Amino acid sequence: MPHAPATAGSLFMVVAPSGAGKSSLVNALLAQDKAIKLSISYTTRQPRPGEQHGREYFFTSAEDFLVKRNAGEFLESAEVHGNYYGTSRIQIAEQMQAGTDILLEIDWQGAQQVKKQFPNATGIFILPPSIQALEERLHKRGQDEPHVITRRILAAGGEIAHAPESEYVIINQDFATALSELTAIIKAARCRFAQQAARNASLFTQLGIHTALS
Ligand code: 5GP
Repeated sequence: MPHAPATAGSLFMVVAPSGAGKSSLVNALLAQDKAIKLSISYTTRQPRPGEQHGREYFFTSAEDFLVKRNAGEFLESAEVHGNYYGTSRIQIAEQMQAGTDILLEIDWQGAQQVKKQFPNATGIFILPPSIQALEERLHKRGQDEPHVITRRILAAGGEIAHAPESEYVIINQDFATALSELTAIIKAARCRFAQQAARNASLFTQLGIHTALS
């Protein structure tokens, strides 16, 4: 069976409802795996306490966001919980061609758009162990206004309904277990035939392995 051509870098999409513990898992992964880079999205939402422009997000106005979107600067974009979010197209393309693995923390709408353009992208859905655990995490985080928390709890079901669109599912009951599962998924994806062929093109040629790339 022929394999679809791939870029040297792998693309991962981590999708989850707010409160599933996605950011903590992703931050722990990035701390231990320096070969993977988090894409910094643009957003029109207000920074939370402690968030920095250019670190968690590029914070921008709706006006600027729409100008960028109309100019085709986003690989994907979506309206989530009343704010716009988008992934910079140029950041992703340059890093993937250079062989860097990229992780996108995006919602299901963005994941669908990315999958159309990069069918090899790996979707990983993070589920909470229960709906009560999700609500507790949102309240404990204490970073959002009560009406924002309510809005996110109501939206959680809508996000979770799209879990079947991801290749992998992690149930975040125990943090260490969830992190080791996330690490295993990343490692396995890097060993896919198409990724290995793209990363080791000359070896594959030397060994006489014919790929869709050669
Ligand atoms: P938060 O405001 O809590 O940081 O993120 C809210 C939601 O927006 C999360 O589901 C997150 O995954 C999603 N999100 C963050 N960045 C992007 C992006 O660039 N594109 C899309 N489609 N969703 C995003």
